[in-house]
Amino acid sequence: MITGECFCGTVKYQIDGALSEGRCCHCSRCRKLYGAASSAYAELLEPGSFSWVAGEDKVQRFITNGDPEQGEWGLGFCKTCSSMLCGMHGGEVHGVALGSVNGDPGVEIAMHIHVGSKAPWDHIGGPAPRYDTVPDEL
Ligand SMILES: [Zn+2]
Ligand SMILES: [Zn+2]
Repeated sequence: MITGECFCGTVKYQIDGALSEGRCCHCSRCRKLYGAASSAYAELLEPGSFSWVAGEDKVQRFITNGDPEQGEWGLGFCKTCSSMLCGMHGGEVHGVALGSVNGDPGVEIAMHIHVGSKAPWDHIGGPAPRYDTVPDEL
């Protein structure tokens, strides 16, 4: 069981399943969203494995791409403390911000993407492969 929560503790969730390997995206949009050098994100491997445990009514949804051809992509934040919690697709939780997970989620950062547009102050560490944009398999 993976659990997570926001900075202020109002919103809590659990995942009865596994996550994909993690990914850091260093693009300018992810930097703004996370207020950081990159995103740190992992997808749910099993749809429906995610549930809100507390504070679901305090989750602010923000639609980032409302193109009906692609389904709506969005994000979920805590309304109180503004922690980024999850990515959403078609109204369902698609994956989580790894920084919101409590303890060890059992996955690591497996790739860095959009490194070609990273911030000039960002020095990437660790062994995970780095891609200027995205690898072909994504
Ligand atoms: Zn909060
Ligand atoms: Zn990005």
